[in-house]
This record gives sequence, structure tokens and C-alpha cells, in this order.
Amino acid sequence: MTALATLAADLDRTLNIAAIPDYPDAVNGLQLANVGDIERIATAVDFSTETAYGAINAGARLLIVHHGMFWSGAQPIVGFRHQRLWALITHDVAVYSAHLPLDIHPEFGNNVLLARRLGLTPSGGFARVQTIDVGLTGTSDMPTAQIVNAAAAIAAESRGTFSATPFEASRVTRRWGLCTGAGASSATLAEATRLGLDTLIVGEGPHHTAVEARERGIVVIYTGHYATETLGVRALGDALAVKYGLSATFVDVPSGL
Ligand SMILES: [Zn+2]
Repeated sequence: MTALATLAADLDRTLNIAAIPDYPDAVNGLQLANVGDIERIATAVDFSTETAYGAINAGARLLIVHHGMFWSGAQPIVGFRHQRLWALITHDVAVYSAHLPLDIHPEFGNNVLLARRLGLTPSGGFARVQTIDVGLTGTSDMPTAQIVNAAAAIAAESRGTFSATPFEASRVTRRWGLCTGAGASSATLAEATRLGLDTLIVGEGPHHTAVEARERGIVVIYTGHYATETLGVRALGDALAVKYGLSATFVDVPSGL
């Protein structure tokens, strides 16, 4: 049994919450307090009614998410927003959220864990947001098809959408960039060209990024927003559980994207 204050302080420190910039609605850190001690942690990619009840049904007293309670901005707490908040408070479940601090973490980060799953070794940063690089770059001599197949397998685990822009079967990836979640944009494509990247691995991106990538000679692999962001919260929850002698449950609610 561990007090919320202990776990929240550990997470703040581990993830360097205070120092890492983010979108205002991310509201990184502890988002909802509880009263009692914690024996079980639940983790999920998104804060939602389903993940809130998933945590409650698992007997968790702390839910750690990547996209937090305020992701849609300030909203009236009525209807489903009221119901899920009421359920969490009556079951004494706290909520902690970490967005970019979790994306970029060198051990529990979505980006480093996805690179590892694909057999890629990072050597630099990519996808600049304010003062930080959210994503990673590296070199490889791997056939692009091999990376595509490995990414497709990860997407399939979360029943998510998967696609890649067309490429020649013999193509080899020499310089790659990776950014989980909504990683493909005109900005990241321009940055990829500046860095001389030939392959971009992302969660998702708008249609025009696939068109623009072809103009730039870059292959983009869309591995799924949800699939690429299951890695960090799971690893973080498992590590926290081991450290404090707790148990951790991943509440898997795929978005389909
Ligand atoms: Zn995301």
C-alpha cells in the first residue's frame, strides 16, 4: 500500500514534469486526487469512460494515462463527463497524466520503446516542439519492407489502422525519423528533408502528408496513434508497480486509429 503523494512525487520526478513544455490542455501531472492508499495501478492511453471503469473494475486506486482528463479543453461536467468523474470519486480512484514527458522519456518513452520494438537504434532527436525533440532519428541498413512489416504487427496488436506510402521492394532505409502519435505533418516532413531522412515512422497524420512525402522521396509508415502510445504507459506502470510492490493493469481500449 502506497500513498498517492508518494507515487505522484515519484512520477513528477521520473518524468521531469515541471521542466517539459506541452500543449496547455495536457495538464501533465496529478489531475484527480484520491484519499486512500494504493495497492493497484491501472494504465491506459486515453482518459475515457471505458478506461475509468476499467480502472475501477480492476480495483485500481490510481489511473495513469497519456491523454488526460482535460484533452478536449474546458467542458461542462455534465452527462458522460459527470458520470465518469462521479464513478472515479466514489471509488476513490486518482488520475495522473503524462503526455510529452512520457513521449520523450529515455526509458519509458513511447518513442524509444517503439524504436526498440522495430529493431532501430536511435542516435538523435527529431520533431521539435518548443524546446524539446519529441521524436528520434537514427541510421540503419534495414530493408524498408522489414520495418513496415514490424510496424504492421504492432498496429495489429491494437486492432488499429495501418498504412505506408508506396515504395520499391528493394528499398533500404538509411536514415529514419520516428514520432509516435500524430507525428506526420508538413513541419515534420520539412524537418525530415532538412535532416536527410528517407523513412518516417509515425502514429498517424493527415492525408496530405502522404502526398507530400512522395514529393520529398520519403516513405511514411503510419503505425496507428493508439498502437504507438500503448508502450510508454504500460512500461511506466509496470516499473512503478515493481518499485513499490504494487500490481499494475493495462486497460486496453483501442481507439481504432
Ligand atoms: Zn497522442
